[in-house]
Amino acid sequence: MSLDLQGHTARKRFGQNFLHDENIIRRIVQCFAPVPGQHVVEIGPGLGALTRHLLSFLSEMHVVELDRDLAARLPHTFAGQGTLHIHQADALDFDFSTLVKDGEKLRIIGNLPYNISTPLIFHLLTFAGRVEDMCFMLQKEVVDRLAAEPGTADYGRLGVMVQYRCRVDWLLAVPPGAFNPPPKVQSAVVKLTPHTVSPYTCDNEPLLGQVVAAAFNQRRKTLRNALKSLAADEDFAAVGIDPGLRGEVLSVEQFVRLTNQLNRHVQ
Ligand code: SAH
Repeated sequence: MSLDLQGHTARKRFGQNFLHDENIIRRIVQCFAPVPGQHVVEIGPGLGALTRHLLSFLSEMHVVELDRDLAARLPHTFAGQGTLHIHQADALDFDFSTLVKDGEKLRIIGNLPYNISTPLIFHLLTFAGRVEDMCFMLQKEVVDRLAAEPGTADYGRLGVMVQYRCRVDWLLAVPPGAFNPPPKVQSAVVKLTPHTVSPYTCDNEPLLGQVVAAAFNQRRKTLRNALKSLAADEDFAAVGIDPGLRGEVLSVEQFVRLTNQLNRHVQ
């Protein structure tokens, strides 16, 4: 198998599947549409497949790369092509708010390591107020879950918690052959845009997280059983939700409404 990885050996534990299909790379960057002056960070630049195109639009950008060898190559790869700020760090505990000043917003892009995509999205959501948008290549199954509607098999904790904070746009399906080495799964590109004006008013976000986690912990249970330790029948009645339903049919708005009702006991 001839893998043109410029002498680099792809490391499985870092989820390294490098994009090599120029057509797909161009389409992803087109969807992202970087504009000079914007504050952009790429997570996991690898050998720079996306970075190269991004830098052709931007004179300056940030990258966060965990692999020391790859991080060390990047300055040489992009010498003389604008200012690339390289952060050799784990994106899972990187403080993204340090990349923008007060009042500025960050745009995030990445062909993410699939093994850490869910915890990474939850980490990035903690910066949602400082983020303009995020464009990610993920396992297609994860994109389906992010964009899922209530009442479908894909709808769960991930979809509810992300949709609570962001608008989710399913952008592009990408086959395994676009990568080197090809992953075993189908991929897709998704755009997450944090709400500037939230459609929901939640009085207690940690409690929302608890309610949603409990509701989906055993998906086949009714809300009455799944939320036994959190909610009484009167709570469901107060917000007009049938406790005999399963959590998977509740909209984000209904989860928020139920949480606000339960929050009255907490105070
Ligand atoms: N963007 C490149 C590489 C994608 S592969 C391309 O599309 O070709 C995923 C990249 O994420 C690799 O470079 C890998 O080293 C990096 N990576 C893996 N885990 C990471 C982490 N926790 N934080 C930051 N980067 C990580």
